[in-house]
Amino acid sequence: MIISRQHKPPVVLDVDGVLLNFEQAWKQCAEETLQHAVIRKKNTWDLATRFGLSPENVRQVWDAFHADGWFGRVDPYPNAWELVGTLKAMGCEVFAITNVDPAFFRERALTLGDLIPEKNLRLLGAKASPEQRLSVLRALGARAFLDDRVGNVNLAAFHVPVSAWLCQGYQDADAPADGVTVLDAALDFPLLLESMLP
Ligand SMILES: [Mg+2]
Repeated sequence: MIISRQHKPPVVLDVDGVLLNFEQAWKQCAEETLQHAVIRKKNTWDLATRFGLSPENVRQVWDAFHADGWFGRVDPYPNAWELVGTLKAMGCEVFAITNVDPAFFRERALTLGDLIPEKNLRLLGAKASPEQRLSVLRALGARAFLDDRVGNVNLAAFHVPVSAWLCQGYQDADAPADGVTVLDAALDFPLLLESMLP
């Protein structure tokens, strides 16, 4: 189904955990930094718990991640091209949003490659709140939003017609709010849009 070719509905995708495999890059950075194997111990959002690392180790890894250009080395998931391509084929304008400092714009644009044009990339800063993310969604007039962080989606659900949570099964995640659609595969998002957008 073609939604509209005249005024493209803006659709916003989160970057890490949706388009790009942040975990793989961070784990590799951790192994190089700490000089030992880093293994997923628990399925939690929190990186210290996920990999069984001390807060000091997590800080060291983040320092290396920022200093050594790791934001330019986060690979897309294999299905990222199909996800974006399907949304574009449906007539949507696809944006990407990320809680990364704008100083890393070039690295983020590089890793998103031909998936998302630079003009459609929004960097909010590492400490951006769900409220700040929502204000960007509203400014873009987002019709649909996909994120793997449930707090972001729970807030957006009041304002964005199609708000979907890509559930990665984190044990420390809050429950999804009313109005949030829970997906376990990113490629279900275009199907959801087909069924919900007029
Ligand atoms: Mg994410």
